[in-house]
Amino acid sequence: MSDESLEEFYGQLLGLEDPWTVEEVIRDGKNQEVRVLVARTDPSVGNCPTCGKEMPIHDSRNRRWRHLDSCNHKTIIEADVPRVNCPEHGVHQVRTPWSEKNSRFTLEFERQVCLWLRDAPISAVAFMFGLSWDAVSGIQGRAVKRGLERRQKATPENIGIDETSYQKRHEYVTVILDKDNNTVLDVLQDRKTDTLDKWFKTQQMADFSALKSISMDMWDAFIKAVKANIGDADNLIAFDRYHVAQHLNKAVDKVRVQEHRELIEEFGTSELSGTKYEWLRNSSSIDNRTGGRPAFLLLSRMNLKTARAWRIKEMASQLWDFVYESVAEKRWKELLAWMSRSKLDPVIKAGRTIKSYFWGIMNAIRLKANNSMAESMNSGIQRIKRMACGFRNRDRFRMAILFHFGGLDLSY
Ligand SMILES: [Zn+2]
Repeated sequence: MSDESLEEFYGQLLGLEDPWTVEEVIRDGKNQEVRVLVARTDPSVGNCPTCGKEMPIHDSRNRRWRHLDSCNHKTIIEADVPRVNCPEHGVHQVRTPWSEKNSRFTLEFERQVCLWLRDAPISAVAFMFGLSWDAVSGIQGRAVKRGLERRQKATPENIGIDETSYQKRHEYVTVILDKDNNTVLDVLQDRKTDTLDKWFKTQQMADFSALKSISMDMWDAFIKAVKANIGDADNLIAFDRYHVAQHLNKAVDKVRVQEHRELIEEFGTSELSGTKYEWLRNSSSIDNRTGGRPAFLLLSRMNLKTARAWRIKEMASQLWDFVYESVAEKRWKELLAWMSRSKLDPVIKAGRTIKSYFWGIMNAIRLKANNSMAESMNSGIQRIKRMACGFRNRDRFRMAILFHFGGLDLSY
């Protein structure tokens, strides 16, 4: 291949168009590098990136971008990038069509990195491309930013406001879900009233005009912020079965822990050893098992406090699909009475919580607000967290969640 056609060849590979052209291609065998020197056909003029008008250049700066490798050679694009002083828009660098502003990588390279990021953790992608963790995270961040800018205006009908654990226990972020589109609308730094309130205030309120339900936990901070921003909140807020089950599961677990301790103290042995997750599994997965857990089913029939608490939880899980609200109300009240008589402190406490938030449970039944999507989203989010071995800060966590679950158009 003659030199001239090599330059043409790279120009075509890079998709360069006038006024940009490849001036020289240099192979550095020692460092296994290819340097592609790109220049403007007329180096004395440039175009304002805002208005596109051509004008004399102000100054220029030499820049380098990493591009996709050419046959195992690290490939670098180099160019003197001019700045223009537009009378209307000020001093700006001209556009370089092969890269985003402020990136040290070409778009094609970033696209490749993003493809890998779909399935591999940042650290693995960084290793594969010989980049730092920060560089890969930066590429992900730019992709998300672009996706957010492109996101079509949505008027969600059913949203979920959920928390997911961030780093250590008791550290949470708030995830706002568009349940109909199965996507994450946004991720907020914590789960405080002010933060959610501020989020609502920075949205176009018209976007919420089609709201039919807002699923969430019985969490005053969220309730307060929603009520302050959404007119019909009293009728839209739904404490769905998923969140109610979480409270009941906690109660069952507390009863189990205490009873286990008592049994050990009294008899030196406990039937409850190693049974934690058996009690927490949801009932549908028990009913559908064909003889899968005879030992557990036997245990659940024993005269154990834990078994009693579990039966209450199981009962509650049956009380969501009603045609008539009056029937639903009656059945729940029966359950609440049972809970208050249970003599199991954690269950009594959970019963009190349910009672004081009962209005939202009735909303959930009426609106058929099922939040199973939040449940699966939550496990998806926790999976990417494990994959990344945690995130250094909440912004990066948000970025990764939106990258994977934001439903964003990340294409270049
Ligand atoms: Zn201009």
